[in-house]
Amino acid sequence: MSATTAPVNGRVAHWFAELPAPRPALPGDRDADVCVVGAGMTGLWTAYYLKQADPSLRITVLEAEFAGFGASGRNGGWASGLIPGARDRLARTYGRDAVLDWQRAMNEAVDEVIAVAAREGIDADIVKGGTLRVARTPAQATRLRHKTEQDHEWGVPESVLLTPAESARHIAIDGVTAGAYTPHCARLQPAALVRGLAETVERLGVTIYEKSPVTAIEPGRALTAHGTVRAPVVLRATEGFTASLKGLRRAWLPMNSSMIVTEPLPEEIWKEIGWEGRETLGDTAHGHMYAQRTPDDRIAIGGRGVPYRFASRTDDSGRVSDRTILQLTRTLQRMLPQTTGARVDHAWCGVLAVPRDWSATVGLDRATGVGWAGGYVGHGVTSTNLAARTLTDLVLKRDTRLTRLPWTGHRPGTWEPEPFRWLGVRGLYVAYRLADRHEAGGRTRTSPIATVADLIARRP
Ligand SMILES: Cc1cc2nc3c(=O)[nH]c(=O)nc-3n(C[C@H](O)[C@H](O)[C@H](O)COP(=O)(O)OP(=O)(O)OC[C@H]3O[C@@H](n4cnc5c(N)ncnc54)[C@H](O)[C@@H]3O)c2cc1C
Repeated sequence: MSATTAPVNGRVAHWFAELPAPRPALPGDRDADVCVVGAGMTGLWTAYYLKQADPSLRITVLEAEFAGFGASGRNGGWASGLIPGARDRLARTYGRDAVLDWQRAMNEAVDEVIAVAAREGIDADIVKGGTLRVARTPAQATRLRHKTEQDHEWGVPESVLLTPAESARHIAIDGVTAGAYTPHCARLQPAALVRGLAETVERLGVTIYEKSPVTAIEPGRALTAHGTVRAPVVLRATEGFTASLKGLRRAWLPMNSSMIVTEPLPEEIWKEIGWEGRETLGDTAHGHMYAQRTPDDRIAIGGRGVPYRFASRTDDSGRVSDRTILQLTRTLQRMLPQTTGARVDHAWCGVLAVPRDWSATVGLDRATGVGWAGGYVGHGVTSTNLAARTLTDLVLKRDTRLTRLPWTGHRPGTWEPEPFRWLGVRGLYVAYRLADRHEAGGRTRTSPIATVADLIARRP
């Protein structure tokens, strides 16, 4: 292994061996029954379920770049059952049973993603190996125990605490003080899933126009520089990019997340590390880390990097700073010293959306015909599927179990105006870094710095 060559930086994500040639742009004005704005997992799953439910629907998808250009083609590939929301807070508003049902629906959605991929012949290298979470300080271990207790309280009795030795049987991570395992997660290749979905919906008769950024969504129409799509229902599926649309600048915060991927690791290293079950891997630090063993035996690992850009700006190509690459490389090497010397082949970043109360939302305004889904707080791979089935029921005016889940019609409030938004987020992530350092000193409880930061952020 050699660490000498500089990694590819940006170019959307490692998951695209080559960037796809874009489909044609919108050629002029068009009419449709449903117009979907954004060809990520939210938009494409929605087009899929709508077409399944009613093959006669004329569905047009408008995409600014190409299908999978956003977080859907760049993410860590955890299709997890994690609820994209604050369970306690939502239970106070919508009731405990509603939140428990949401959890059941999320767990079922993991299997639904796997089933649809199999049925439609989408090869996204999916392995349902669960998630291993590790603690590497006493305070993290306390949090992990608490999180596992909360999982039991909120309908995930399968979450189990692990001793360091049990954790090492999954993945031999250095310095583990405690582990936790849940079976409700599948590892996948995200770009393969989203590109496969795009091809599937086209086969079903959905029209996708790429390189067609929507400049405004209005009741009954979506406007682009190439023409207008008129449709009684327009669905906004632009997650981390939503702030660029008129009137939505403060709706959801575009949170940045960065990743690196190593070269394929040799067999002798895998013998030491284990990771035979292809579990997704996360930690319990405040500057959260997530990772997967890729289908071609690399390690892809992600974390926050630069968390937020002033005025909710998003980037194009996904370039990250050298500092972020170094930080992620160090995190990997500290956890798995066997990877020291492994080349980093690619680094990139993307944006996900965080609502002010850290709870996702899906809805359709009957008066205007404008619908939306997003704000999945970094848990979008499975949530997009559940959101899409919920949007489908809403569009088709079906009163179902899904349309009664707590996130349906949920209104999370807005973020503060600039410069307070930028100063606030920046301050919070400085605080989380300090809290991680504070806890590294060996204290057994969460650092008060993080507790205060969580309260200000309203982070669950
Ligand atoms: C680095 C990273 C790692 C992540 N890891 C995980 C993970 O492991 N597990 C997990 O569950 N979640 C993860 N997430 C979050 C998850 O990827 C997202 O929540 C999810 O993909 C959102 O899907 P989406 O379709 O709503 O949005 P996107 O995938 O962002 O799609 C939105 C699409 O809309 C298009 N668009 C934007 N504006 C316009 C416009 N004006 N007109 C037309 N089109 C427009 C964009 O080009 C884009 O293609 C991660 C996110 C990132 C960035």
